[in-house]
Amino acid sequence: MSKEFEGKVALVTGAASPIGLGRAIANRLASHGATLVLLDLNQEKIDEAAKEVEKQFGVKAIGISANVTKTEDCENAISKVKEVFGQLDILVNNAGVLKDNLVMRMSEADFDFVMDVNCKGVFLMTKAATKLILKAPSGRIVNISSVSGLTGQPGQANYSASKAGVIALTKVFAREFSGRNVLVNAVCPGFIKTEMTGTLSEEVQKKLTDPSFIPLKRPGKQEEVAAVVKFYCSEDSNYITGTFLRVDGGAAIGM
Ligand code: NAD
Repeated sequence: MSKEFEGKVALVTGAASPIGLGRAIANRLASHGATLVLLDLNQEKIDEAAKEVEKQFGVKAIGISANVTKTEDCENAISKVKEVFGQLDILVNNAGVLKDNLVMRMSEADFDFVMDVNCKGVFLMTKAATKLILKAPSGRIVNISSVSGLTGQPGQANYSASKAGVIALTKVFAREFSGRNVLVNAVCPGFIKTEMTGTLSEEVQKKLTDPSFIPLKRPGKQEEVAAVVKFYCSEDSNYITGTFLRVDGGAAIGM
């Protein structure tokens, strides 16, 4: 495996779950030599994740507990990165939540909760990170959106709106940070079996993984999303900013 990210520091939010996209992304970046900062809500779990990354890939990794909906937490996290590593080259805004319900039954609190984590969290974390990442020679920000933000899914008014917001933020960041050579792109995964999608009803899971719904006739794998994030962080994407890429087996062709 090439060590193209050696000397670079990457922060991945929402990286605690061993079967989550955040962990797969952290693993992929670490496998190419990046120093890793893993961030999630629970200190014990994220420390465990950092230990595993260090052990598996022989890179330096630390865990930070922070809630991306809180300005102070985001700022403290970046201060910690500055104190320990003095630099930040890659930010992956991956933390996210689901709280599905039909519009008629969705509470205002559930709408706000999902918007806060998935959309405002990306804004707050990125805003805090600007202090460091805009000083990187070739910084990269990758935001994890969703095909739900492109198509709009029944039962996901909050989630679809939040993920569409992530794409809009990606375009704004791309324009605002271009002068500092910080490239910003988004990834829109389709259905991947994780703790998050495990909370969906069996009926919805069945529908989203139905081969007639996915041209490639299978759900995606964590590593397939991580590979695209890696591409967006690499020199192979030096002339790409403000874009998104669907990793969905063709489920949302045309979007
Ligand atoms: P996951 O539940 O394994 O990962 C999400 C992580 O975010 C969790 O570890 C959780 O603790 C953390 N988190 C939640 N709220 C947080 C907060 N306020 N501050 C910090 N961390 C917080 O789920 P996943 O499926 O791996 O999802 C990762 C990302 O991928 C999410 O943004 C999700 O919306 C997106 N996504 C997932 C799928 C899929 O099918 N799994 C599809 C499209 C997009």
